[in-house]
Amino acid sequence: MEKHDVIIIGGGPAGATLAHFLGEYNIESLVIEKGHHFRDKVCAGGLPKGIFSILPVSVKDNFSYSSYKLFKVFYKGKLVASEIFDKPFAYGVMRDQFDEHLRQGITIHYNEKFVSYEENKNGIVVKTDKNIYKGKLLVGADGIGSMVSVLSGLNKKTKIVIAEEKEIPKKDHEESLNVFLGDFPLGYGWKFNKDNVSSVGAGALKKHYKKGLSNLIDNTYTLVKTYPISLWDRDISLFKGRIVLVGEAGSIVDPFNAAGIYHSIYSSKLLAESIKENFERGIISFENYIEKLSETIFEEFKYALILSSAFYPMLPLLGNVVFKPHILEFIANAQNESGYLSYKSVFERFSKSKHIEVKIALFILKLLKIV
Ligand SMILES: Cc1cc2nc3c(=O)[nH]c(=O)nc-3n(C[C@H](O)[C@H](O)[C@H](O)COP(=O)(O)OP(=O)(O)OC[C@H]3O[C@@H](n4cnc5c(N)ncnc54)[C@H](O)[C@@H]3O)c2cc1C
Repeated sequence: MEKHDVIIIGGGPAGATLAHFLGEYNIESLVIEKGHHFRDKVCAGGLPKGIFSILPVSVKDNFSYSSYKLFKVFYKGKLVASEIFDKPFAYGVMRDQFDEHLRQGITIHYNEKFVSYEENKNGIVVKTDKNIYKGKLLVGADGIGSMVSVLSGLNKKTKIVIAEEKEIPKKDHEESLNVFLGDFPLGYGWKFNKDNVSSVGAGALKKHYKKGLSNLIDNTYTLVKTYPISLWDRDISLFKGRIVLVGEAGSIVDPFNAAGIYHSIYSSKLLAESIKENFERGIISFENYIEKLSETIFEEFKYALILSSAFYPMLPLLGNVVFKPHILEFIANAQNESGYLSYKSVFERFSKSKHIEVKIALFILKLLKIV
C-alpha cells in the first residue's frame, strides 16, 4: 500500500496550491484528481489584485493573465459609474490553463476518483477507484459537493448561488471589468476580456436563478455552462479527527461576490502552516487552522455577509449613494495588506455615512438583527 503524509482529494486551486505550500515546509503529499490535464472548471477566472502576494513561490510567475485598470458598473443596462486606476485592480485567467499551471511540480494522480476512507488511531486509509493509500491526514479540496465532507459528516447546507458563464469572441480590446446590477434580483452579471475571448456571465441566489440570465448582459448565442457555488456561512465545521476541508469543499467562498479562487488558495496557505506546526508538535488537531481562518478570511467574510444583506436587496434605495466614482475608487483601494478588498473597512465607512439612504439601510439591518 502506498504511503503519504498528506492525501489531498482534488487538484483545483485549493488542492494544487496546498501541495506546493506543504512542499515549502518539506511535507510530502499526494493529490488525487478525478479529472484530466487541462480540466476546464466552469468559472469566470476573475482574480483580485492581491493574488500575487499569496501564490506559492513555485507558481507565482510564468502564467498568462489579463489585467484590468478600468472598472465600470451598469445598473439596469445604463452605465452608472466608471473609474480608471493607475495599476490593475483585478486579473482574469483561463481556468484550464491556470489550474494546469498550479499543478506543475506536485505529485498528482489524474483520472482517479476518491471513493471512501477509513480512519484509525494510526492514520487514514483512502480508497480510490484505482488504488488504496495510507496517510496521516486526509484533506478534502474536492470543491462543491465534496465527497470528503459528505462521508465525514462535515457537510452543512449553505446558501447556494447558481452561476453561468459563456466565452464569446472578443468584440473589442478594452481592458475593463464590467459589472451589471439590477437586471435580476439578488445577483449580478459580469463581462470582461481575457485571453482571446470575453467572459460573460451571471449568477444569483438559487431561488432567483433562471437559465439564460447571462443573455441579459450579452445575447450572443453560444454554449452556456452552469454550476453551483457554495457560499460561506458563520458556523461551518471544517475538521474532524484526521480529516480537514479547504477551499470550496469547506464553503470558503466570498459571500458578497461568490468568488472562491483567492480564498481557496489563501485557506490552503493557512492549512499548510497549521499542518507544519502540528507535525512539529506531534499532534492531530486543526484548531490552529480555524484560528488562522477566523483572524483573516472569516473576519472579512462576517462583513461581506452583512454588506451583501444590504447591497443586493436594497439596491434601488442605495443606488444614489453607491454608484459614484469615488466609491469605486474607495472599493478598489480598500484593500488589506494582502491586497484583497477589505469588507471591514467598507462597512466601517458606510456605518459613518451621513446619507439618509444608508441610515435607512442600517436601520433595516438592525431590525433584522443582521448587525
Ligand atoms: C460560473 C462561475 C463563475 C465563477 N467565477 C469566479 C471568479 O471569477 N473568480 C473566483 O474567484 N471564483 C469564481 N467562481 C468560483 C470558483 O470557480 C470556485 O470557488 C473555485 O474553483 C474553488 O476552487 P477549489 O480548488 O476549492 O475547488 P474546485 O476548483 O472545484 O476543484 C475541486 C477539484 O476536485 C476534483 N474532485 C472532485 N471530487 C473528486 C473526487 N471524488 N475524487 C478526485 N477528485 C475530485 C475536481 O475534479 C476538481 O478538480 C465561479 C464559479 C462559477 C460556477
